[in-house]
Amino acid sequence: MSIDVRGVNKTYGDFVALDDINVSIPTGQLTALLGPSGGGKSTLLRIIAGLETADSGSVVIEGTDATTLPPQKRNVGFVFQHYAVFKHMTVAKNVAFGLEIRKRPKAEIREKVDELLQLVHLSQFSERMPSQLSGGQRQRLALARALAVEPTVLLLDEPFGALDAKVRKELRDWLRRLHDEVHVTTVFVTHDQEEAMEVSDEIVVINEGRVEQIGSPDELYDTPANPFVMGFLGEVTELDGSALRPHDVEISVEPGLGGIPGRVTRLLRVGFEVRVTVEADGGGEVLVVLTRTHARALDLAEGRRVWLAPATGATTVRAGVVAAV
Ligand code: ADP
Ligand code: MG
Repeated sequence: MSIDVRGVNKTYGDFVALDDINVSIPTGQLTALLGPSGGGKSTLLRIIAGLETADSGSVVIEGTDATTLPPQKRNVGFVFQHYAVFKHMTVAKNVAFGLEIRKRPKAEIREKVDELLQLVHLSQFSERMPSQLSGGQRQRLALARALAVEPTVLLLDEPFGALDAKVRKELRDWLRRLHDEVHVTTVFVTHDQEEAMEVSDEIVVINEGRVEQIGSPDELYDTPANPFVMGFLGEVTELDGSALRPHDVEISVEPGLGGIPGRVTRLLRVGFEVRVTVEADGGGEVLVVLTRTHARALDLAEGRRVWLAPATGATTVRAGVVAAV
């Protein structure tokens, strides 16, 4: 384990920001701390970095008890949402900075800077000032700078949060590829479930100061531990008193196969999928998501009578209890 957080508590006045947090972050993986805003993700990351002190509990980094170590002794790299680069230094100088204050030999610094700028695809901008870069390029620079001193762990707090959707998505793919190349243990804070699902090996879901669940993206999506995780990681609809994923609702146009009867009230095509709203005879709207091919084969149309049932293997939540059908 690269980072071991044990029994960490943190309060601000009488507000409980973290409540008995226990998390183990494996070496070399990309782990996301995912949850709604105000849940305690940044507080936990800052405690790992040493920028904040826990009221109780311990933080062990690569086998060393770091609980009382200052940030500069923890060998962590940190990148925040807002550009953490030096505005008065060129791109190359920004990356070299940490190595220069460590008094590394000049040739070594030059080589390392070249290598890192290549890694983050900024080689041709090495002599530019940060103000001459786009937002996405500046965050890549911040990452290169954080990596320069070869941290044991890289801590990223919503590093792409201030960028527009398209650039975010590009940087997300880029971060994944970067991680596959350098394998530095990385903890990545995000409130965006799609971002967490796409980028990480493992996700720690944090809500109201507590860990709700830890697992791979698939595990969390397919077998959520509770209704909160289920709702936070993907879309949920309700069928006959149970909550389930809209693509786990089976739709049939034949009577006689059973299921909840209803009528299609809306069909919406979004890319390759079709989102069907069904008004159940007993009341209540159910959302069903299926592929275009499937919708076409069923000849679905507004007004059509249909019968709905949970698909085999669907995860459902009834009265707060998660089960598989
Ligand atoms: P997240 O990163 O998940 O959005 P934070 O860790 O930043 O959440 O904050 C968790 C909670 O702790 C929030 O309600 C926030 O207002 C509170 N909090 C964080 N830092 C402080 C502080 N220095 N003083 C008082 N409250 C704080
Ligand atoms: Mg935060």
